[in-house]
Amino acid sequence: MVRVRAPLIYIFVISLSLLLLSLPAFAQPFGVYGPEGNVEDWVVIESSYATIFVDKDIRIKDVTERIDVSFARYDPIEKQLFLDKGTSPEEKLATKIDIIIRKAKKILDMHPHDFHVKIRVYGSGDEMWDIYEYIFKERREYKAFYIHGFDTVYIPVEYVTESILAHELAHSIIDTYFKTLPPEKIRELLACYVDVHLKD
Ligand SMILES: [Zn+2]
Repeated sequence: MVRVRAPLIYIFVISLSLLLLSLPAFAQPFGVYGPEGNVEDWVVIESSYATIFVDKDIRIKDVTERIDVSFARYDPIEKQLFLDKGTSPEEKLATKIDIIIRKAKKILDMHPHDFHVKIRVYGSGDEMWDIYEYIFKERREYKAFYIHGFDTVYIPVEYVTESILAHELAHSIIDTYFKTLPPEKIRELLACYVDVHLKD
């Protein structure tokens, strides 16, 4: 666990490498679909760099509106995307996630080939912490986390912000970029650097 200095709040996040995980561990209690649940429980949105799974009980608009990418208005390339108001909440969410990922790559100057990540947005912290507890056999109430073995960022809707997403997505970019992962502290520093400089 790490404590991250963000502009307004302290964010508790974690980066995890799950090479130790064995898939048979997912037999119970989440049924045949594993901790990720039944495919019917999720609305799936594809962006250029991410597959975003949103709990079907959440309004997509409520997720989209929590993410502020107004920093993109100052980028000559992103500006047009940012200004495009005529799209659905799903399209807007995909666009916002892509803007954050492109910015994170730019800040890190890391551009892993064929980068693609999964993001799961849960209805509540409790639902996500249940998944964490099931996977790691201990309960940690983080605001979000990333598991490299699953290429997935986990986050409940109540903690969705551009800063927290940028931090976790940075972990994904970093872990994908390095063939041999640097030490945990270095990866954490790099991820923190991204959310601190997201709006520069
Ligand atoms: Zn982190």
